Amino acid sequence: YHRTVTQSMSDYLAETLDAVRDDERGTVHQVPQALAEADPDLLAACLCTTEGSLFAAGNVDHELTVQSVAKAFVYALAIEEHGVEEVLARVDVEPSGEAFDVLSVEPETKRPRNPMINAGAMVVHGLIGGVAVDWQERERIILDGLSRLAGRELSIDTEAADDELAQAHRNLALAHLLRAEGVMEDSPEDVVTGYTRQCSVLVTPRDLAVMAATLATGGRQPITGEQVLCLATTRHVLSVMTTCGMYDSAGDWMSQVGIPAKSGVSGLIMGAIPGRFGLATLSPRLDGHGTSRRGEAIFTRASRELDLHLLTDP
Ligand code: GLU
Repeated sequence: YHRTVTQSMSDYLAETLDAVRDDERGTVHQVPQALAEADPDLLAACLCTTEGSLFAAGNVDHELTVQSVAKAFVYALAIEEHGVEEVLARVDVEPSGEAFDVLSVEPETKRPRNPMINAGAMVVHGLIGGVAVDWQERERIILDGLSRLAGRELSIDTEAADDELAQAHRNLALAHLLRAEGVMEDSPEDVVTGYTRQCSVLVTPRDLAVMAATLATGGRQPITGEQVLCLATTRHVLSVMTTCGMYDSAGDWMSQVGIPAKSGVSGLIMGAIPGRFGLATLSPRLDGHGTSRRGEAIFTRASRELDLHLLTDP
């Protein structure tokens, strides 16, 4: 059956939360400590239409670190700044089929496989503001861009960032290898510091629904009305989310759910249905790929019940 976006959409989301609530499988990510201490029962779904109507159920105003969901938006900011060709010259757009923290590179050019794995996301992060800037300046540009997408001033959980940074050996190793291969020019320490702080930006499911809706409109923030990104950028980012957004389960996600999406280890998932709406979910227990279990269940149900699969005619 087909449901349309009406006043009862919040009720629909609440019913959906109830339907998945009892699934307690999965584990909460342990780094940083702030995530390990997150309430595993947090559960939220928020939907924002391209006209800016918001529908919400559960803990939609709970703030937590954005983690890898930021990769999609910072990728958009890098394309706006440098153009898609220059960004493509640094980071490929092929699914890696490997875990997010593996050094997966295109053999000839050594470009990271895609911007949704850590290696690619760090190279993209380093493009922000050009080569001559330090991480503080890069952070200012990224926070400004993410805040315009959210329509409110976002901040960083610096304690979470410091905690993760103290254990960021793998990301540091990746950054050093990328630098050694010549695909990254910045200091690996600077890039990992900035990238980790980018992962530590605090957002709510409500923020993410609005940010996703901005991708769904072709870049116009539906609440403030600001054209934050251009259509060519959002189309490119949505394409990469479609093929590479869900770690090493992207193919499964696309066939089952069929919505361009990006997940993060804090338990957030953000998805955008072009021309219709942005959807964000929160539930901290993750499956073996690092994807929120109940979040995936909500997306799967919504895709079926609201006819959201990209490759069906609604
Ligand atoms: N901060 C995490 C990392 O870089 C993010 C991982 C994720 O959300 O996938 O390892």
